[in-house]
Amino acid sequence: MSTDCLFCKIIAGELPSEQVYSDEKVIVFKDINPKAPIHLLIVPRDHIISLNELDNDDLTVHMMRLLPKLAKGQGLNNGFRTVINTGPAGGQIVFHIHLHLLGGGSLDGAGFSM
Ligand code: AMP
Ligand code: ZN
Repeated sequence: MSTDCLFCKIIAGELPSEQVYSDEKVIVFKDINPKAPIHLLIVPRDHIISLNELDNDDLTVHMMRLLPKLAKGQGLNNGFRTVINTGPAGGQIVFHIHLHLLGGGSLDGAGFSM
């Protein structure tokens, strides 16, 4: 828990979120500024800053394998997009690692812009 971290505050229940899933390792909630009809954030309960600091193999596998399950649960049967922004030049704004899950619209192309 980092006291000045937005996502730690959401995990602690100090700030609201539209939660769609949680387990012992992660919580999943709706992005407040969705870039697609479905836009979820998969957020580990541990305060890990970014992909540069992620060294937990179990957590990594857990998050990756959760993505298709969440997508299916959201009715995204025709595909989805996963984005991880890392560091300021990678577009990361919240420095608590999170995976974006996007879908429900047409997400053609390489999709470097979100
Ligand atoms: P990133 O640029 O990868 O760090 O993404 C941060 C994401 O967090 C953005 O898509 C924001 O819209 C989203 N976000 C910021 N504040 C909140 C919040 N309070 N609840 C849900 N999502 C948020
Ligand atoms: Zn945090």
